[in-house]
Amino acid sequence: MTGWLAIAGLGPGDEALVTEEVRAALAGATDVVGYIPYVARVVPREGLTLHASDNRVELDRAAHALDMAAAGKRVVVVSSGDPGVFAMAAAVFEALETRPDPDGFDIRILPGITAMLAAAARLGAPLGHDFCAINLSDNLKPWDLIEKRLRLAAEAGFAMAFYNPRSKSRPHGFARVLEILREGCGPKTLISFARAVTTPEERLTTVTLAEATPEMADMRTMVIVGNSDTRRVGRWLYTPRRVG
Ligand code: SAH
Repeated sequence: MTGWLAIAGLGPGDEALVTEEVRAALAGATDVVGYIPYVARVVPREGLTLHASDNRVELDRAAHALDMAAAGKRVVVVSSGDPGVFAMAAAVFEALETRPDPDGFDIRILPGITAMLAAAARLGAPLGHDFCAINLSDNLKPWDLIEKRLRLAAEAGFAMAFYNPRSKSRPHGFARVLEILREGCGPKTLISFARAVTTPEERLTTVTLAEATPEMADMRTMVIVGNSDTRRVGRWLYTPRRVG
């Protein structure tokens, strides 16, 4: 039996949002690799080995998955949301770059519903016009670059979606983000905090930038900032498709 590697997205949390394609890959796998809470979402069964690891070891995890596929295993690397969005697909390709024959592996990337889209759907249609997605973690990039991208996105009038908004290791970063946004977008712009969307702990809050405080976000929160046209309609939030 020849080995393969599927890099799969488990969606934002609700089992109903796991695609059929991902379910089929998991059903045919011998090994599942990933960050501890994501591997915990895979139902154990006979013949399936679960390899859960800490979130700081993405490259080791990717190399391990490639080695197992080369040895004939059927491996699924799991991410939450979509595997291509601030997740394991890029880490696997980084590991693949160091191998002599990248095309010698049977690799498939199985998309999932990313947190940004699940959060937007819960809120209404805040990403109905042009938008950008920014990872606010400075683990893999300098903080100055994050500030620069925020300022330019605000100047360009994009709605914005932020992943990894706030962590214990960066308590002041998100306060600075709010400052830059108030300056660049104006205090009346709407900002939404969508926590643990599609799970039983889901919580949605929308306020103006003037009212937003850093404590409104944590690492299970997706932050969505509207553009200057984003507005409320009843309990919904939307960004019109037309500008100007
Ligand atoms: N690959 C994932 C993102 C990984 S980065 C995806 O496509 O969704 C992890 C960040 O995603 C978290 O810090 C949070 O900002 C966001 N996130 C993931 N799941 C979420 C959920 N159910 N609700 C809100 N935000 C979520």
